[in-house]
Amino acid sequence: MARYTGPRCKLCRREGEKLFLKGPRCLTKKCAFERRPYSPGIHGPKKKGTKLTIYGIQLREKQKVKRIYGVLEGQFRRFFEIARKMPGNTGENLLILLEKRLDNIVYRMGFAKSRAQARQFVRHGHVLVNGRKVDIPSYLVKAGDIIMIDESLKDNYELKSAIEFSKQMIKPDWLEVDHNNMLGKVIREPQRIDVSHPINERLIVELYSK
Ligand code: SF4
Repeated sequence: MARYTGPRCKLCRREGEKLFLKGPRCLTKKCAFERRPYSPGIHGPKKKGTKLTIYGIQLREKQKVKRIYGVLEGQFRRFFEIARKMPGNTGENLLILLEKRLDNIVYRMGFAKSRAQARQFVRHGHVLVNGRKVDIPSYLVKAGDIIMIDESLKDNYELKSAIEFSKQMIKPDWLEVDHNNMLGKVIREPQRIDVSHPINERLIVELYSK
């Protein structure tokens, strides 16, 4: 399955804000965006007063969300089409669908330092949903699902340091986590308010509605 493999800090710099793609590093002075808070490239910082067009603003918001959740264009578009067919607000539906992805849940439960790492754990078959191995990062969890980390990963250094790191993060109240037993439960479906990053989803809907 295709995924972005380039430098992740460049993505934050391109979007002009911290997207927290690298776990603990994002909270230190080593954060590339803290050191160089302007777009990457040989031309350096943009001149003051450079304005984006409306299309540019919409495009950047879509790219930002794709990058936060680590989703490429084709899959993002498919999620959008599913969101459009669901009752209610398309933009909110899209974010809720992204939030329900298995890799996101593993990250939000604190079993991985980033969504990219969570995706790797899922792809390598270390995650069980209701006792069954699921190796599809885009698998959508439901309320009541039990997420478990496979026995084979229990002594893994990366997993242990992710759990340690997650103690600094705010725990989503729609998830119940038992780090000692390496499992968690989805108490309820996520809602728009549970999406922690500031996102203007209306811009994405406008972009795809052109
Ligand atoms: Fe973004 Fe984290 Fe890199 Fe900072 S360290 S630029 S927040 S990925």
